[in-house]
Amino acid sequence: MKTAGVLALQGDFEAHRKALERCGARVVEVRTAAELASCDGLVLPGGESTTMLKLIEAENLVEWLRAFAQEKPVYGSCAGAILLARDVSHPVQPSLDFIDIGVERNGYGRQIDSRIAKVTAEKGGEFEAVFIRAPIIRRVGPGVQVLARYEGAPVWVEQGPHMVTTFHPELTDDLRVHRHFVEKL
Ligand code: GLN
Repeated sequence: MKTAGVLALQGDFEAHRKALERCGARVVEVRTAAELASCDGLVLPGGESTTMLKLIEAENLVEWLRAFAQEKPVYGSCAGAILLARDVSHPVQPSLDFIDIGVERNGYGRQIDSRIAKVTAEKGGEFEAVFIRAPIIRRVGPGVQVLARYEGAPVWVEQGPHMVTTFHPELTDDLRVHRHFVEKL
């Protein structure tokens, strides 16, 4: 059985744990480099990316995460997607740059803070996705594959072992995103 880590410094890590366990993974909450070392992959949950980044820096985890991502898959959901992006705007903020995308924070605007929307899988078919103060993916690099879109914009992308969603699959019963990640472990 493979072990999926969930970064548990801030945000909705508990919901990711449940979804990953339903996909057959063992789950470890990661707060230290030692906990990270036991994982075959890592999820960065939704929450507040500025706060999460500060906590990652305070725990001296940046270099450990970079080394981990050289070898193992990392998945970022919403705030996690902001942390994994190459470029972040609105406002500009440092990030880990594991995926060649540009994201705009809170890109859907304040007036539509959150919504449940039907998104379209590139493979075909629609599924429900929860967006909460979500970023918009404004730029996708040449090595990045789009797996789902909403209103034409990518909302689920991957590059090699790493992937992001701008929505929260841990808040619906649709396990396709977590299942796809567990297959990468
Ligand atoms: N708007 C948040 C941020 O910029 C992300 C929101 C979320 O993760 N649901 O960090």
